[in-house]
Amino acid sequence: MNGMELSARQEEIVSIVKENGPITGEHIADRLKLTRATLRPDLAILTMAGFLDARPRVGYFYTGKTSNELLTHNIKKMKVSEHFSVPVVVNEHVNVYDAITTMFLEDVGTLFVVDEHSHLQGVLSRKDLLRASLGQQSLQEVPVHIIMTRMPMIKVCKKEDLLIDTANKLIENQIDALPVVQEKDEGLEVIGRVTKTNITRAFVELVKED
Ligand code: ADP
Repeated sequence: MNGMELSARQEEIVSIVKENGPITGEHIADRLKLTRATLRPDLAILTMAGFLDARPRVGYFYTGKTSNELLTHNIKKMKVSEHFSVPVVVNEHVNVYDAITTMFLEDVGTLFVVDEHSHLQGVLSRKDLLRASLGQQSLQEVPVHIIMTRMPMIKVCKKEDLLIDTANKLIENQIDALPVVQEKDEGLEVIGRVTKTNITRAFVELVKED
């Protein structure tokens, strides 16, 4: 759907609307000698992709967007809510050794640190844990809250945010992941994570035919 390749029929619809718009779905169907129902999926795709716009009781018209504008249109439709992953969290009193073990077992590069109320307190990256491992102290004796990056320094995002805005935050702050949070009375509840992998996957999806 996000792919810019149109089927022959879709191309035909676009050119009919370009020349005759605004035009109703009914009239497009007549011209193509198809039923309105047969045409419905194509019209939905063309509208979603931004080629056409629909006005109630007026009909379809050609938006005239360039392919660059269409790409922007499609990127700006991508929300965190459709692209985030499950978060992996550890309690702030967990020791560094156990946090490293969790990172391996859960196969993630960033852990979020929470208190007993599940509120966000900090972030642990791979390098945070590597750095702690270079110290003299036994890793079992160092709680993660000593070494983590802590609130209020943590960059976060919300489910409603645009994915492109989270990508910008990752770049600007030179970090790999953002916790997806929900505001609570007493703090921020961690409900997900957005990582460079999510962004890469979304980027690939943008050109995938489906
Ligand atoms: P790594 O350190 O493994 O390359 P990052 O680039 O994600 O991974 O982390 C760099 C530093 O930024 C670390 O000290 C980490 O604690 C911190 N950090 C990671 N994610 C965030 C975030 N969402 N908000 C604030 N700081 C973060």
